[in-house]
Amino acid sequence: MSTQKEIIEKYPLLFKNLRSGKEKFECGKGWNNIIEEACENIMDYFDKFPEHSQNNIDSFVVVKEKYGFLTIQGGTFPDIVYDLIKDAEVKSFCTCEYCGDKGRPITIWGWEKTLCESCEKEDSRV
Ligand SMILES: [Zn+2]
Repeated sequence: MSTQKEIIEKYPLLFKNLRSGKEKFECGKGWNNIIEEACENIMDYFDKFPEHSQNNIDSFVVVKEKYGFLTIQGGTFPDIVYDLIKDAEVKSFCTCEYCGDKGRPITIWGWEKTLCESCEKEDSRV
C-alpha cells in the first residue's frame, strides 16, 4: 500500500492545492488504496482524452473523513471525474479507515466512523 505522501507525489497536478499540504490527507491510511485507484482512473481518463485535459486537470483541495466516510472536494473537472470520485467515496462506506480491511459504519463516543471489528476494539479501548 502506498503512503499518503507517495500518492500525493505521484499525482502532483491533482494535489497541488491540497489544504493539508504535501504529506498527508485528512483521513486514515486505510483508504489510501481507494484514493490511489481513483487518481489512476482519473489520469487514465485524461491520457485517453488529451483534448479534455488541457484545461481540465485541476487540483483537489480537501481529502478527508467526514461523518465516517471519505470526502474529496475542490477542483473543477469534467463530469466523468466526479463520477470516479463518487465511486471512491462509496467504496469507503465498507472499508476500514484505519487498516483498509472490510469495515462498516459505526458510532464510537458519538463519532461516526467506518471501521473493521479489530480497529473498532482498538479505538474504543480509551
Ligand atoms: Zn481496521
